[in-house]
Amino acid sequence: MSEQVTAEETLQRAKNIVGEARLYIDGELCEAASGKTYDNINPANEKVLGPVADAGAEDMERAIKAARRAFDETDWSVNHEKRYEILSRFAEAIKASVEDRFRPITMAEVGHTLVVTQSAGMDQAVEALDFVLGVFKDFEWSRELPETELHGTPCTRVVWKEAAGVVAAITPWNFPMQINLNKVFPALAAGNTVVLKPAPDTPWMATELGRIAAEVGLPAGVLNVVTSQDPAEVGEVLISHPDVDLVTFTGSSLVGKRIMEVGSQTVKKVFLELGGKSANILLDDANFDIALMHGLAVCFHAGQGCAIDTRMLVPKSRYEESAATLAAIFEGMPFGDPSEDASLMMGPIINRKQRDRILTMIKQGEAEGATIAAGGVAGDQEKGFYVKPTLLTNVTNDMSVAQEEIFGPVLCLIAYEDEEDAIRIANDSRYGLSGSIHSATNERALRVARRIRTGTLNVNGASFFGADAPFGGFKESGVGTEMGIEGFEEYLATKTIGYNGNLEK
Ligand code: NAD
Repeated sequence: MSEQVTAEETLQRAKNIVGEARLYIDGELCEAASGKTYDNINPANEKVLGPVADAGAEDMERAIKAARRAFDETDWSVNHEKRYEILSRFAEAIKASVEDRFRPITMAEVGHTLVVTQSAGMDQAVEALDFVLGVFKDFEWSRELPETELHGTPCTRVVWKEAAGVVAAITPWNFPMQINLNKVFPALAAGNTVVLKPAPDTPWMATELGRIAAEVGLPAGVLNVVTSQDPAEVGEVLISHPDVDLVTFTGSSLVGKRIMEVGSQTVKKVFLELGGKSANILLDDANFDIALMHGLAVCFHAGQGCAIDTRMLVPKSRYEESAATLAAIFEGMPFGDPSEDASLMMGPIINRKQRDRILTMIKQGEAEGATIAAGGVAGDQEKGFYVKPTLLTNVTNDMSVAQEEIFGPVLCLIAYEDEEDAIRIANDSRYGLSGSIHSATNERALRVARRIRTGTLNVNGASFFGADAPFGGFKESGVGTEMGIEGFEEYLATKTIGYNGNLEK
């Protein structure tokens, strides 16, 4: 069980936390072969939090070999009872480390505010561990097909579900606890061995899993954690390696395409959770007082979430009024260093490059004809990477700000003519990850939901999100499904066998 701590105590811990600096390869915590490290930076104040191992190709090769050996030469993939027992202990140890390690680290390293950690950032991610264990326990690993006969030979047929093999898990920096666990845990539970490569900006959220795995005594090679300052070098080793069977990736569509291309050379199963440009449709009968408040979703983790609604569609007749209300709430939205204020929803942008990219995209929107109705500039903080909550009005859906993922606290307000036009605009995107619909009746909203080409939707303020809820994208938002039973099944291969007679002869 997790200890009970006050918000003040958590903020204090976030100011002083130092995470695990070492890689975890073949059951051992170790330095990079080169001995190199790099600095982990707090995006809220630019302070160096501490070092982390800077792995190279040699370390990654060793991790893949260890994972291959553990898959091929031990009973990890087939001994369900032993695996369940070990993973249950691993889950308990992760939960026990939430308050003193994971929560303060995610605040310091990722820039999650306490509020963000209390949902998708941390608590919902940890709750998902028990869900996965439950799926594992109840899973139907084999089933019989009806008997057939071929040229007089009776055919007894059975379908087995088996682990896919060595899994490469490549994760982004925005929700590392949730995404690392959503990949590593179902992959292990399904009987695979795993090499986890986190994003360079958020290494400790992954190395802590290595530290705990070492403490709990996961069999050598079953899980490996390899951190590196270069975003692509060791990742390329993983995605091109013939010993890796499956790549599960969450990140940008650009890198996702690269992974698909490289993975095709060795015909890997590739499973991608990519970007989004989700629309929140306010139908003309919606309660605008409530629905407009959902525009602030772009401030949740400063808009650095793939499934956040970044386009808001309102009827032309209510455009001016909506713009005025939103501008006022955006101007009043507080943001700052997560370790200074427990009530904040919005913290910093992950790094300087991302902050500058967001500001450039806002300027581009302005150049294309959008109006900056609130924000549009960097925060006033002396240190750290901040963008003021930004509302762009007079946006049309063909503008770059409406088509490209900005990944910052930026909402585009777009006018539509009628319901048909709203559906057209929502679907006029190369992405298809999520979205929302607000209406006076669920019946009308669900009718519209049928026509939206996205993997998830929220209707009238409710949330689809949960450990049991399949999550995935249509179009360029991805291939495959994470979470839910479907998320577990992604990590399995299917083997079908026909034999002559029965097991006794
Ligand atoms: P990114 O694509 O730049 O990087 C993601 C990961 O891929 C990192 O670990 C990075 O080091 C690694 N990587 C980069 N180049 C690589 C290469 N050539 N080979 C192998 N690995 C490589 O994404 P990011 O900037 O870390 O994260 C933001 C992006 O993630 C956004 O586009 C966001 O929408 C997306 N995202 C999607 C989901 C989802 O579930 N759909 C969830 C969170 C984030």
